[in-house]
Order: sequence, then C-alpha cells, then structure tokens
Amino acid sequence: MRYRRIALLSSPASYRTQAFLTAAERLQLEVRHFIDTPEPLVQQWRRPEAVDFSRPQDAATRIVQLLGERPVDAIVPVDDTATLVAALVASQLGLPHNDPEATLAARDKLRMRQRLHAHGVRIPRFMPYPAVTDPRSIAEDVEYPCVVKPTLLSGSRGVIRADDPEQFIAAFERVQRIVVSDGAELDHAVILVETFVPGFEVALEGLLDEGILHVLALFDKPDPLDGPFFEETIYVTPSRLPAAVQQAISRCAADAARALGLRTGPIHAELRLNESGPWIIEVAGRSIGGLCSTILEFGTGMSLEELILAHAVGDPIASLERRGAAAGVMMIPIPRAGILRGVDGIEDGLCVPGVTGIEITAKLNHPLVPLPEGASYLGFIFARGQTPDDVEAALRAAHRCLSFRITPEIRLQPVTATRR
Ligand code: ADP
Repeated sequence: MRYRRIALLSSPASYRTQAFLTAAERLQLEVRHFIDTPEPLVQQWRRPEAVDFSRPQDAATRIVQLLGERPVDAIVPVDDTATLVAALVASQLGLPHNDPEATLAARDKLRMRQRLHAHGVRIPRFMPYPAVTDPRSIAEDVEYPCVVKPTLLSGSRGVIRADDPEQFIAAFERVQRIVVSDGAELDHAVILVETFVPGFEVALEGLLDEGILHVLALFDKPDPLDGPFFEETIYVTPSRLPAAVQQAISRCAADAARALGLRTGPIHAELRLNESGPWIIEVAGRSIGGLCSTILEFGTGMSLEELILAHAVGDPIASLERRGAAAGVMMIPIPRAGILRGVDGIEDGLCVPGVTGIEITAKLNHPLVPLPEGASYLGFIFARGQTPDDVEAALRAAHRCLSFRITPEIRLQPVTATRR
C-alpha cells in the first residue's frame, strides 16, 4: 500500500499546527510541512520547509517544485495566510481545491463584503476608505454607531467601535497606526467602516463538501460583544438558540460560503442575530482558531483536524455528528498590558467540576498586548458538561480562580551621555 502523503501549510506561530500533525499521524498520513517564512530568513535558513507565503504565486511554484515527483493526496492550509497558496498549489497538481479568488475573498474583509453584498447576503452597510484618509474629513458622513477595521488582520485586531465623530476620529487614527505597525504601507491599505450590528453573536464551524455545507458545531458566545473592542471569551456548544433560529443561521452561513465561492474544506463563520435575523460578520476558509478545537470530537472520537484531513484525502467519514453532551472553551482575556510574571490558581481552576484543562499560552516574562493592538490570548480554559449552562458556569468559575501577576512594562529610553 502506498503511504499517503499530504502537504501541510502553516504560519510559524500557529497554535493549530500540532493538532494537524497529531491528526495526520493518527490517520497514518505522511506530512510535508511548509512554514511561512519571510524571504530573508528563507535565504539564511535554507531549509526545504521554509517558503515565503507573502508572494503566493512564487510560493506555490516553489512548493510544487519541492514536492517533486512524489504525489501528494491533499494540500491542507492551517491558517488564513496559507489558504491562497494552498489553492494555487492544489490547482497546479490537479487536487480538489477552492477557487483562489474565493480564498482571497475569505481573507480580505473588503472583498468579502463586496461579494456578500453582490449576492444579497445580510451584512452591515460598509464603506471602504483609503487608509491615508484624514478621518476629520469623513467623520460627519459616517453612520453611528460604526465599526472601524483593517481589511487584512484577524483575531479582532484593530476592530474598534465608535459612537460619534470624536470616537471615530480616534478609532480611525488608531487603526491607521495598527496597519502601519503590521508592516503595511498606508498608501496602499484600505480601512473599512461598517454600521454596528447589535445582537447576540454565534460562531459556526462547518465543512464544505463539493459546495454543500455540513455544520459541525454551532457555538453561542454568551458574553456581550458590544465594543469598543471585541475580545473573544466564551464559546459554548450546542447552541441554546431555538432550532428554527439555528437553521436560519446555517442557511445564512451556507449562502455566504456560496457567495464567496468556497466549495471545499473547513469554514469558520461569525454571525450576529437580532430581530432582522442572522447577519454575517465574517466567514473564514479555515477551522476554528487557537486551541479551541480541542473540545470538539466527532463520530467515534475523531478530532476536528482528523475530520478535516480525512475529508481532504477523500476518505469516507463515518459521522459528522459531534460527540458528547455540551462543551466549551474560554479564551482568557488579557486584563491589562504589561509583563506577565505568573499565573496563580490553576490547580484550583482545574478542580472546578467540568473543567477539563487550562492552558496558559502567553509566555512568562514577555509583554502582554491587549486588543486592539494585540493579537493573542493569555490562554484557554476547556470544559465539558451535561448542558451548555453547566459548561458556561464551569468556565466562569475556573476563570475566577485564576489571578495574573502582570507588572508594568518599563521602556528604556536611550540616554544621551553627558560629560561632567
Ligand atoms: P477579525 O477577523 O479580525 O476577527 P471581524 O470582522 O470578524 O474581524 O470582527 C471581530 C469582531 O468584532 C466580531 O466577532 C464582532 O464581535 C465584532 N464586529 C465586527 N464587525 C462588526 C459589525 N459591523 N457590527 C457589530 N460587531 C462587529
């Protein structure tokens, strides 16, 4: 029997790579792993797995070259940064893939809004502005409350609500600084301004198979996300919403995936619900972020990543049913900026009934950067229970057990030496 092989494309800092590598091992798939690496480092490192994904066509050509004569069964992107390159490689190799344009639309918030609007999917009104715009010149034209956001960042970075012109000017200027600090040129960047959609937020995890959406899990996000910043905290599944509402959410997500042109592989969608029904905030062509997938199991015990890989290589999947009663995760918010010196109370948190794990992923003695500038969490709390309410209560109780020692960051200024 030929040992089956996949190419896994990830960013170096991805939380999710290990879960995919473990899944590949369990499915007995050989992995060629390619890691997004800036070109100067590619030159220095000279390792076959280092490829610069920021130039997608070149990256795809390089990966096809590196894969050589030996066939692969699937190209699997782990993160948003890899979805376009993966689609280009797979199209060159004749493997199932998403349209590269669709992967772009699932990453770029402006393209996404344009496509969803063109297909009549319910989304907020939006207005793109060149990032160099002076916000004072547009503050009176904007509809309030609004949300200001960069088009190419993720994890709620740079997403800021503004309720009036004064807040808008401050928010827009802050997003301009975030865009620049991320390495983009302001001259070429776009900042999106959208109407704020009030309502309850949910996240949908799905798998597309030949354009058909299979819903794997629907998560409630019970903490209000009203801004000014939008830090994720608790995800609980199954959703407590009525079945008819859940069906409307699934239909809306399926319409959105179709509008974007996504046809295969995982999607992660964020939606808001209010009296008008579900609204699409975002659909990404990847699975759930962080370590959140840890709480999901399917059929007879497959992880989400096993399911994604099995689907990618064309294996029959026994069941897409989520296994177990209720499950949830809390992305531990960063309480304030500073240097993380320690976390106390983990043992107590682990003793809370239903809590199945606590992972502190922030590095000790490193700076913590909260939203909207920052990009990560302090860590994750995982729980299982009979009901979503039990799970939510367990997550909150475990979080209350934790305390974080954070000291102010002292920035040293260069001192000009003076002669006495
Ligand atoms: P990212 O991809 O960086 O997570 P999103 O566009 O998904 O950016 O926004 C992050 C969060 O900000 C959303 O999950 C939602 O809570 C909030 N948000 C974004 N846009 C809107 C909007 N137009 N109305 C209400 N909330 C929004």
